[in-house]
Amino acid sequence: MLEVIQYTIGMSNGFFLRSGEAVIAVDSGGEMGEAPFLDVCEKHGIDPRGIRLLVVTHGHVDHFVNMGPMKAVTGAPLLCHRLAAPFLREGLRPVVFGRNELGKAIMERQAIEGDPIPFVPRVEPDIEFMGTYDLAPWGIDGKIIETPGHSKCSTAVILPTGEAIVGDTIAQPHGASKVTLAFLTDTEGSDDVLFDSVERILSAAHTIYSGHGGPFTREEVMEALMEEKARLGKA
Ligand SMILES: [Zn+2]
Repeated sequence: MLEVIQYTIGMSNGFFLRSGEAVIAVDSGGEMGEAPFLDVCEKHGIDPRGIRLLVVTHGHVDHFVNMGPMKAVTGAPLLCHRLAAPFLREGLRPVVFGRNELGKAIMERQAIEGDPIPFVPRVEPDIEFMGTYDLAPWGIDGKIIETPGHSKCSTAVILPTGEAIVGDTIAQPHGASKVTLAFLTDTEGSDDVLFDSVERILSAAHTIYSGHGGPFTREEVMEALMEEKARLGKA
């Protein structure tokens, strides 16, 4: 049986995919330190040394901030998209802007309050991919696909159970009343690219796990997509 286990550390969610003896970790939660990671492992009955692979959905610090300690504790290789790799390797913060009113409000608040994670640690990716990546060799029946829109390096883990882990392509930020499509982006005019990514996720998944909030149903995300298309006159 393939299981998705969601946990939250700080501002972000992290995940375990477990199938029999095989365990993969996806994203890191939003705080750095071995202790919070070991706590969630213990809570879910996972032996950290048994984790076979670490996956980062995209190159934003709130998704990889704890990958250094996770590499040290698990001994597992770290996988990310080739376009995400420089952010991890060099500890870069991406240039992002609000794609809609919510995103603009969040960026304005950050300009006043400062970044919620004030530093970007460096961590070395071991495996980089482009296109589609098959997780089967790691014991998990699933694949990673490219889903640009929130960032050029955004990806989603798609499972044959109809579940998906989508990073920030679909999210409910703290304080928001419901799920929304990515409210931040690194690419001007990327709405259509984002919509296409969301549609491909929805064609494969009925349950959508996100970096923030969730999980969401296909119906909830479909409604958010329709609202966004209507707002931009693309319905
Ligand atoms: Zn992000």
